[in-house]
Amino acid sequence: MDKTIYFDNAATTQISSEVLNKMMPYLTEEYFNPSSLYSRAQKVKNAIEEARKNVAEALGADPNEIYFTSGATESNNWAIHSIVEQNKKNGKQCHIITSKIEHPSVLNVFKKLERDGLEVSYLNVDAEGRVSPEELEKTIKSNTVLVSVMYANNEVGTLQPISELGEICRKHNVVFHTDAVQAIGNVKIDVLHQNIDMLSLSGHKFHAPKGVGALYVRKGLKVENLLFGGGQERGKRAGTENVASIVGLGCAIAEATKDIEVKNRHLKELREMLLSGIKKIPKVKYNGSLEHGLTGTLNFSFEGIEGEGILLLLNSYGICCSSGSACTSGSLDPSHVLLAMGLDHGLAQSSVRISLSKYNTSEEVEKFLEVINPIVERLRKMSPVWNEKI
Ligand SMILES: *Cc1c(COP(=O)(O)O)cnc(C)c1O
Repeated sequence: MDKTIYFDNAATTQISSEVLNKMMPYLTEEYFNPSSLYSRAQKVKNAIEEARKNVAEALGADPNEIYFTSGATESNNWAIHSIVEQNKKNGKQCHIITSKIEHPSVLNVFKKLERDGLEVSYLNVDAEGRVSPEELEKTIKSNTVLVSVMYANNEVGTLQPISELGEICRKHNVVFHTDAVQAIGNVKIDVLHQNIDMLSLSGHKFHAPKGVGALYVRKGLKVENLLFGGGQERGKRAGTENVASIVGLGCAIAEATKDIEVKNRHLKELREMLLSGIKKIPKVKYNGSLEHGLTGTLNFSFEGIEGEGILLLLNSYGICCSSGSACTSGSLDPSHVLLAMGLDHGLAQSSVRISLSKYNTSEEVEKFLEVINPIVERLRKMSPVWNEKI
């Protein structure tokens, strides 16, 4: 069988060999509990603190503003619940704001809180998937306690005007949380200057292992306990640390933020190839923002056919892509992100996401471009929707 062409890096990424090498000792001879007092355990503890420093540095934060978690789902849940819980304790009837295009690990928390009786607003996005700072400012009320807007979207790659949103939240004294999973290693983040109060990230989206992530909480902002137990993570998130994965996360984030420009230059070349190749296919719509978007994430709608059909045929050539996000694929519902961007159901269901990493090559893109046109032609020949139209 041919080599797999992996174009699904927004779903997960491969562990880099450097990261794996850094992790190995902590899965083998350095197995000590970091809370123990002998020197070999303290060495393990130091490795965790080194990783914390790396995460902090990548964000422009202080190490004691970083909490390790099991991933961004946990970080997002923790951040949102923490703010809501604090305000409930104060007897406040709170209002919280998010966008219509969030990852389910934010959106479904907001929906749950809404069912519980909280007042919730969902910000619209424009045709490119961007929220409007003006709309945010108009939506903030005197009882608004939290705004959560993602840094970069996982389905279309659109970047939000995070600094502007942060500034508005700061001005109105509202906590600003961002799910930055897709932004790490792709854009420069500076939590201080961007007025970000809380930020979530997940290791496996930037070549660390799955099951490890972090939450940044700005100094001075109180965070509720997520798990009660021992004193790990300054007592906020108890449980013996996932040492090897934390070490991997620290190594991966340093690697990912070191070479952002080099990576983006490479991905830009691949993106140009993809854009000009796919442009030759009739009736294809690009979904996203070339100006304000991740270089490595591209989303296209192929009119008249189902994205799922394209994926299956791509798969037969060893090419891995997604339609929408991995979390919602398998369901026949069209993407909530594409619907919010104004696509009709048909176009939303005809979408394919290509998400690249630094490991992808121009040869892989060429191979993809060789097969995509015939795949689309073949599916359109069989499509009643398409044949009705022409
Ligand atoms: C993958 C992803 C998450 C969830 O990360 P987990 O590792 O599955 O917890 C959250 N937000 C975005 C934008 C993602 O892409």
